[in-house]
Order: sequence, then C-alpha cells, then structure tokens
Amino acid sequence: MPETPEQLYERAAAALRMPPVHEWDTFPFDGDMRPRQLRPPADADPPRSGAQGVECDSCSKADVDYLWTNERWRLFAPQPNGLPVVVLLEAREHYAEPGDLPDELASDLGVMVARVERAVRSLPGIGRVHVCRWGDGSEHLHWWFMARPARFSQLIGSFAAVWDDVLPPTPDVVWRSNLDHVVQRLRDEKDRRAPSTT
Ligand SMILES: [Zn+2]
Repeated sequence: MPETPEQLYERAAAALRMPPVHEWDTFPFDGDMRPRQLRPPADADPPRSGAQGVECDSCSKADVDYLWTNERWRLFAPQPNGLPVVVLLEAREHYAEPGDLPDELASDLGVMVARVERAVRSLPGIGRVHVCRWGDGSEHLHWWFMARPARFSQLIGSFAAVWDDVLPPTPDVVWRSNLDHVVQRLRDEKDRRAPSTT
C-alpha cells in the first residue's frame, strides 16, 4: 500500500539524513551544512504556469522566438548561463506529461531527443549532454538538454544543473556561436530511419 504524503512526513520529518557531501567531488558548495527542515505536505501541488494551456508562455510564443522549429517541435534557448549550451525542446502543441503524447508524437520525440543530443554533443569541448525532464514549473511539455563541459571531473552528473548557476554566464559571443552550431547541425540532419524491409 503506498504511503500518503502525511505518512511520509510523519516518518521522515525527524529522521532526515545529512549525506557526506564533503566527500562528493561534484558537489558545488563548501562549508558546514545541514538538511532544511521538512515542511508538512500542502493540500495540493503548486499550480504550474500555463496550466491547461491558459496563458501558456510556450503556446503564445511565435516561431521567431525559437532557435529552431519544425511542424511538431520547437527548440528554445534561455539566456546564457554557466553551461556552454542549454536548450529546451518543446512540443508545438500543448501537452502536459510525456505520457499524454499520442504514440506517433511520442515516437517522434525519441527521434528528436537523439537529434538534439547529437547536435549539442557535436560542439567541441562538450563532454556529455544531459537530457532532463522535470516539468514542475511550466506545464507545457519540455525537455532540457544541458551541455556539460569536457574534462572537468567536478562537473559530471546531475549537479551539472546546479553548476549551471555557479559558473559565470557564458560570454554572449561564445553562446551565440554555440547556438549557431547547434542549429546548423539540426538543419544538416538526415532522416536516419532504417529503410523498410517489407
Ligand atoms: Zn502551452
């Protein structure tokens, strides 16, 4: 039987653990730390922006606001931050969860994840492209592609998303050049579907 949020709170609030972050090479912060007090569960999750497509930023934006678009997907680049490239892949239509996608669009999402990852990874100096979906902020379905610089062992893994806010922003001219590279690679993409054998 699943635990209710209230049961989880009762069990966990006084039993929080402090992991050995001082031993974690990838942890971006130093100094004495302790877990924040766990607050009791709220009555409901906080509302997401653009819920049900009402006043949705993504739905209201024109293609010109995007880095790259096709008939089903649009690629967005937020303002430059610490990582050399961060782009978001959005469905053109408003869907909230990956599981809401019709099968055909879900299949195409797999192709697009591979294409965007490949385009970002082709940029010199990139060690890995993290592909992430959280979805607790804006409801409009979006996937993050976060380029992790090569050869910095501290930047590997999921803390790269935090290092993005710790490293100083990528200089504008470098950032724009990086995005140009990604867009050109996407435009050069060929259809890699295997030829039908039937
Ligand atoms: Zn939307």
